[in-house]
Amino acid sequence: SNDYRVVVFGAGGVGKSSLVQRFVKGTFREGYVPTIEDTYTQVISCNKNVCTLQITDTTGSHQFPAMMRLNITKGHAFILVYSVTSRQSLKELSAIWDAILETKNEAMGDIPVMLAGNKCDETESREVNCSEGEEQAKRWRCNFMETSAKTNFNVKELFQELLNMEKNR
Ligand code: GDP
Ligand code: MG
Repeated sequence: SNDYRVVVFGAGGVGKSSLVQRFVKGTFREGYVPTIEDTYTQVISCNKNVCTLQITDTTGSHQFPAMMRLNITKGHAFILVYSVTSRQSLKELSAIWDAILETKNEAMGDIPVMLAGNKCDETESREVNCSEGEEQAKRWRCNFMETSAKTNFNVKELFQELLNMEKNR
């Protein structure tokens, strides 16, 4: 089908909504707005065709396990976001990664997943090095990028990379 569904997961406050807003609308806001789940639709071109890119911005990690599983079932590709200012937020992604593997009947490495270390502009309060993110991505056999929704660093690239992974399957 020409419908490509991307689901964005990660702990509360890591910048999931900010990354999606930045990508979809090109904007950024400083304040924290707790989100209810939202889906954005974008029409993009892929392989000379017109595709619909659906991006689901989830509320957080495991508040609603049933909802998480439903999102995994429906999703084709996943962005797992942590904040480089919170080691805990990287740890919390393990449960989501496990749930993705469990729910999808596919081998590790066959599911398009990007690991994103967001808030890389926050040099003063960094807790997670770039190399730690890279190592985690190797273990999960996914791709990795540090991003900043605030400075618009690697945001387009993050989504583009996911689309490329799908095409190369
Ligand atoms: P979510 O709960 O994961 O959706 O997180 P939000 O997108 O609501 O962002 C949480 C807070 O982090 C907000 O105050 C944002 O302004 C801030 N934030 C998000 N992305 C960045 C970033 O790349 N750099 C910095 N410095 N702050 C960010
Ligand atoms: Mg949010």
